[in-house]
Amino acid sequence: MSSEAQSQNLTDGFHLVIDALKLNGINTIYGVPGIPITDLGRYMQAAGMRVLAFRHEQHAGYAASIAGFLTQKPGVCLTVSAPGFLNGLTALAHATTNCFPMILISGSSEREVVDLQQGDYEEMDQLAVAKSVCKAAFRVLHAQDIGIAIARAIRAASSGRPGGVYLDLPAKLFSQVMDEAKGKASLVKVLDPAPKQLPAPESIDRAMALLKGAKKPLIILGKGAAYAQADADIRALVEKSGIPYLPMSMAKGLLPDNHPLSAGAARSLVLKDADVVMLIGARLNWLLSHGKGKTWGAAGTQKFIQVDIEPREMDSNIEIAAPVVGDIGSVVAQMLSRIGSDWPKPTAWAQGVKSKVDDNVAKMAPRLKNNNNPMDYHGALGALKEIIKDKPETILVNEGANTLDFARSIIDIYQPRKRIDVGTWGIMGIGMGYSVAAAVETGQQVLTVCGDSAFGFSGMEIETVCRYKLPVCIVVFNNNGIYRGTDTNPGGTDPAWTTFVKDSHYDMMATAFGGVGVRVTSPDELTRAVKAAFASRQPTLINAIIDEKAGTESGRIGNLNPQSVVKKA
Ligand code: ADP
Ligand code: MG
Repeated sequence: MSSEAQSQNLTDGFHLVIDALKLNGINTIYGVPGIPITDLGRYMQAAGMRVLAFRHEQHAGYAASIAGFLTQKPGVCLTVSAPGFLNGLTALAHATTNCFPMILISGSSEREVVDLQQGDYEEMDQLAVAKSVCKAAFRVLHAQDIGIAIARAIRAASSGRPGGVYLDLPAKLFSQVMDEAKGKASLVKVLDPAPKQLPAPESIDRAMALLKGAKKPLIILGKGAAYAQADADIRALVEKSGIPYLPMSMAKGLLPDNHPLSAGAARSLVLKDADVVMLIGARLNWLLSHGKGKTWGAAGTQKFIQVDIEPREMDSNIEIAAPVVGDIGSVVAQMLSRIGSDWPKPTAWAQGVKSKVDDNVAKMAPRLKNNNNPMDYHGALGALKEIIKDKPETILVNEGANTLDFARSIIDIYQPRKRIDVGTWGIMGIGMGYSVAAAVETGQQVLTVCGDSAFGFSGMEIETVCRYKLPVCIVVFNNNGIYRGTDTNPGGTDPAWTTFVKDSHYDMMATAFGGVGVRVTSPDELTRAVKAAFASRQPTLINAIIDEKAGTESGRIGNLNPQSVVKKA
């Protein structure tokens, strides 16, 4: 600031952005520096904010998105203009799709030049581009509007169904000055950013009547239920009603996976046989076969109750007999108050489900104990299952194809929000961004289990993990390729396009940056390496050698691959 500015007590765009964020309790920023936001990051650090710099904006964005999920406060990602903005945009779209509160703040180039398309440095109409993938998008042209813009961004991201918000800050804004006192007065502290939304009493009546009359009821918990942080009431609802429940992958741990009412290992049975299904913060999208088809009972034989904050979610795929629109905390509390001593627990059904679960768990158990070398998925994940059982406060990050599908069903989770994964899109690349944010936001040990292909999308961020010395232990399931490492090229000498360099030393990527790198070939070695990482809390990458023949095409969603009817290679 110039001496003139100081003597007149002026503030500027940089400091107004910082003051507005801090006023609203946002003290952590994920981003990548560059024109025009480099100084903004410096001033943020000077103001005591935590500013975590990544190597690529997409991973800073994924970090911000999952910070939003874990904390209910919008995670903020800060990027440069055009290309940096676009790199961050994937994560913003991901946040919107997954209903995570996030704000992408990008610097942008000179408005007048951009709008006349005269070819500015990193020219792009970022606001227009962002709009189609986010919940709301705002641009600020005047320093005196920064306070209100940040307030709007926070409220838009957090309220109702959470999602991604874009905030466009042109370069010129940062050096605009205004009187310091007026600047301070222009800031807005958002009161009640995610107000409760009470359900209509008749919607609760309708839902409870349906649930009470059910012979084979089922509760499906989704990541909206995990996000809502109504953990004790959700658990009480399941236990007092005696209704079996199925957790979607990020809802695992709301109740411990070994809970007697968990239907996790009897998924096929309960989806087919339940007569009334209550969805709590879960959408009937592709992950639940849209509520119809051969996964489910015969059409028309099952009735659905859906609890969601977003009214338009109702009837999105099939008819919802009892829509309950409201926030999960309020809805579940009201439902609980209706479950008295006369509640008819569906005991026979619950016992039937439990015996199916027990059968399946018993069948799986010996495979998880194998100490094969090289490892298969069951042996390796059996070892990691025991690690999490011992240290249930660990946050598990999981991505890949086979590595994702097997880990989801094999590794039990015991506490809420301890499993974060690829989410609604089933994307690859969340690994390092999620790991950094999980460690930074919670201080917990993180265990990241990813396929070698999935790891490659964000692998360079191992430097970020090492730079901030985070307690992140990454286990790369190295099977030399995508799905399997055994493919050959039917038409030439190049490697098959699903394969990687054989026996790649991923562990050396950690040692290159001062972290710990270990190569393991058996479940026993894997166990020892993870335990050492947890004990030291050092950034660690374990290169876990998996039999290259062990995987299947696309894991459990191979059916989504189109098939050629003309010729099969
Ligand atoms: P999953 O993939 O685990 O099934 P989804 O992402 O499909 O979960 O669904 C989450 C749902 O939760 C969304 O429809 C979203 O609107 C809803 N949701 C998120 N937060 C809340 C909340 N606090 N109260 C009610 N519904 C919520
Ligand atoms: Mg692989």
